[in-house]
Amino acid sequence: GATIGIVGGGQLGRMLAFAAARLGFRTIILDPDAACCAAQAANAVIVGAYDDVDALKQLAAGSAVVTYEFENVPVGPMRALAGTVPVFPPVNALEIAQDRVVEKAFLNGIGVPTAEWRAIDDTQELDHAMQEFDTDCILKTRRFGYDGKGQASIRRKSPHGELYESLGGVPAILERKVPFDFELSVIAARGQDGTITAYDPAENVHSMGILKSSTVPGRITPETAEAAKAIAATILERLGYVGVIGVEFFVTGEALVVNEIAPRVHNSGHWTEGACLISQFEQHIRAIAGLPLGTTERHFDAVMENLVGSEVNAALALAAEPNVLLHLYGKGEARPGRKMGHLTRIHPRDDGNRVKEG
Ligand code: ATP
Ligand code: MG
Ligand code: MG
Repeated sequence: GATIGIVGGGQLGRMLAFAAARLGFRTIILDPDAACCAAQAANAVIVGAYDDVDALKQLAAGSAVVTYEFENVPVGPMRALAGTVPVFPPVNALEIAQDRVVEKAFLNGIGVPTAEWRAIDDTQELDHAMQEFDTDCILKTRRFGYDGKGQASIRRKSPHGELYESLGGVPAILERKVPFDFELSVIAARGQDGTITAYDPAENVHSMGILKSSTVPGRITPETAEAAKAIAATILERLGYVGVIGVEFFVTGEALVVNEIAPRVHNSGHWTEGACLISQFEQHIRAIAGLPLGTTERHFDAVMENLVGSEVNAALALAAEPNVLLHLYGKGEARPGRKMGHLTRIHPRDDGNRVKEG
């Protein structure tokens, strides 16, 4: 079969490589670490930095299509690559998702609500925006944040003199803190023929900025689920997207606002491995390879729990439990905050009837 190039050799790259192998594709991973956890799943690893032009050229030369597993891949080199080989998801989606100001401006521009926000470039602008909002807020770096890194909460009317500098003095965004009831995400996909599919929304719990669990179904009405899927579909269409996207929402009552988008497979979609015939990983491979998208029908209720740091040590015992699908990433040391694996508990659907995919 053809070869798929994947930029990034973390657990998402690994799971993409396994899914690709099962469809008969070969995979080449580009990662700075020859022993990255995706190496075990791929046919070859090119060792190099993500912006190493020669390494990227080598990847392009050996691949029929190139994709990426995380959103901090440098846009310039990826755009150059896209001149020689198809790159999916498209580089414009990568560029938008890399900068929280550009991302929110894009979303608001296509009519998708977000938390109210202001671009912040110095302490004075922060003072001004805090007074203007007059609520609890969150200051985030515009770029390179993940797992809640590069963020600080600011209480209403509290002093924040050193805070802007403490995030590195880099371009930032202030967001009004959304008093949400819970968080939700939609994993959706768009194929090369424009077909769009979406899995059922998951309800997500974060702890210390890191995803802790995803539960499907979430505590939402069918109407809210459809509304969330429709927003994800709008985003995919307006980006001319190909591949899987993760769209994170805050839910307050029946109101939905988008937190952020991730132009890749998403941690909150890992439950699809256990509860659906076609996982998010296979769906992404199908989309970028130009195959028909698969069904997103959900056959089980599911709870996915991340195994972060030393939590992984107790996990092997859980593998003996019925209804537990254990997935370990083959990483070495269980450092604090490091995602080592996840497990999905599956149960028969308690709503009796199966809902057709959207
Ligand atoms: P990820 O690992 O999902 O990419 P990230 O580092 O990009 O995370 P965000 O998703 O922006 O960070 O924020 C992390 C978490 O912080 C959110 O899931 C939510 O729990 C909380 N949070 C972020 N922004 C807001 C907001 N404006 N109002 C309320 N809570 C927020
Ligand atoms: Mg993020
Ligand atoms: Mg997030």
